[in-house]
Amino acid sequence: MKITGINVFQVDLPLKEGRYAWADGKYVEVFDSTVVEILTSDGMSGFGEVCPLGPFYLPAFGAGARAGIGELAPHILGQDPTEVQKIYYLMDRALLGHPYVKSALDMACWDLAGKVVKRPVCHLLGGRFGDSVALYRAISQRPAAEMAENVARYRAEGYRKFQLKVGGDAGDDIARIRAAAEVLQHGETLVADANTGWLAADAIRVSNAVSDLDVYIEQPCRTYEKCLSVRENIHLPFILDENIDGLDMLLRAHGDRAMDVINLKISKVGGITRARQIRDLCVSLGIPMTIEDSWGGDIITAAIAHLAHSTPEAYRFSSTDFNSYVTVSNAGGAPQRVDGTMQASEHPGLGIEPDREVLGEPVARYVS
Ligand code: MG
Repeated sequence: MKITGINVFQVDLPLKEGRYAWADGKYVEVFDSTVVEILTSDGMSGFGEVCPLGPFYLPAFGAGARAGIGELAPHILGQDPTEVQKIYYLMDRALLGHPYVKSALDMACWDLAGKVVKRPVCHLLGGRFGDSVALYRAISQRPAAEMAENVARYRAEGYRKFQLKVGGDAGDDIARIRAAAEVLQHGETLVADANTGWLAADAIRVSNAVSDLDVYIEQPCRTYEKCLSVRENIHLPFILDENIDGLDMLLRAHGDRAMDVINLKISKVGGITRARQIRDLCVSLGIPMTIEDSWGGDIITAAIAHLAHSTPEAYRFSSTDFNSYVTVSNAGGAPQRVDGTMQASEHPGLGIEPDREVLGEPVARYVS
């Protein structure tokens, strides 16, 4: 089997809530998602998706993904897409860095690898652990009372894990965390994610002011060193996200005892191949993970479900069903949330069938 063509599609994903806001006044109203279709000599198609959280969350943006895929396409045309490690090696040789650009192509190769052997991707990634994957809901940054209301609202939809978007004014953030903690119920999980928005002193102030609460602190500051200094000065459980952008940083942070949990985003580390490597290492090292992506539609939600469902349950801190946040569905067959959980598809590959009308005409085509 050879790659004979690559089609690239652009899909806008508007938010049901209208706006998703996080640290430092940043927000997105319509996500710019890129879907790739890898066509093969056997007449099969594999699909992948990459959807940055705007152009200012990670070093990634929608048009950059599409330009980068054009750069990589000539280097993987004619190759066997089911040789996922070899494809990744070729992509790394052709383009230094830019992990998010490689993510959708890698995802499409995994979709094909599953379709060829007629097994779901989660089986190829190690097997299916447990019945379902527990999900968290991101609570967009708003005034404290509204965020507490949204915790209650999303609990009514079945979620038991909540990630508050903080990283604003320290006093406001203390109020946000306290208001949400007040409505929390037994067995629920609360995370305060500053998304790099705090200076170290504010991170320590906020963490100390809520140290009587059952709450995790996530990625308080921009740099790893600042996060480490906060970690050394607070007692709350600690999650690193933005700084854990690959294997090197995971190993360094593990050696420094810099976190209790990491956030593993598929496109942040460069696709399923790289995420699997980090996931397996985290299991060996005893590090639980939020397994997700920066954002996405149905195809990314399916990929998250396969990676999460193939992870031992003790190491699954949480995951996300991004397809429930947006008004547009780009594929059928993707996981649909039930009682705050989702399941990886039992069908071959990612188990999704793209909606051709939503995808529209390709914005770019590459052929061998
Ligand atoms: Mg985070």
